[in-house]
Amino acid sequence: MAIERTLSIIKPDATARNLTGKIIDKLESAGLRVIAQKRTRWTREQAEAFYAVHQERPFFNDLVAFMTSGPIVPQVLEGENAVAKNREVMGATNPAEADTGTIRAEFAENIERNSVHGSDSVENAAAEIALCFNDEDIVG
Ligand code: ATP
Ligand code: MG
Repeated sequence: MAIERTLSIIKPDATARNLTGKIIDKLESAGLRVIAQKRTRWTREQAEAFYAVHQERPFFNDLVAFMTSGPIVPQVLEGENAVAKNREVMGATNPAEADTGTIRAEFAENIERNSVHGSDSVENAAAEIALCFNDEDIVG
């Protein structure tokens, strides 16, 4: 297995409920290492750029409104098989379908307000990390 990096975002529904630490605990307990992190709030332009792949989806405008509604905590996670490992710890997009013990099963409010984002491939991870962080702010 390879050491990978992936982008995680703690979403506004989770920061609003003061769940940042509990989510980081789940990630770290699964063996993922936080090697960059910040708290920020996206503009509409930033959210639209990040979710450009979902532009044609019916939920796109709502998703952009949600992701700009409050603070988010983007993170770079590093570890063995980090992309898949993070998706495993996150659980399914719809919390009703997420496995017990996953972040979304425990914390997500619904399919949109689902507490975390995680890159879905190594290629997308690299692009998403570059959108969110400068190289010198990633310290492995
Ligand atoms: P993410 O990309 O945030 O890690 P994901 O890969 O599990 O989540 P995607 O299909 O990429 O899910 O959708 C991106 C985000 O858009 C979801 O996390 C969720 O916030 C929102 N979303 C997805 N499907 C729906 C839907 N049917 N209705 C409302 N919002 C949705
Ligand atoms: Mg996705």
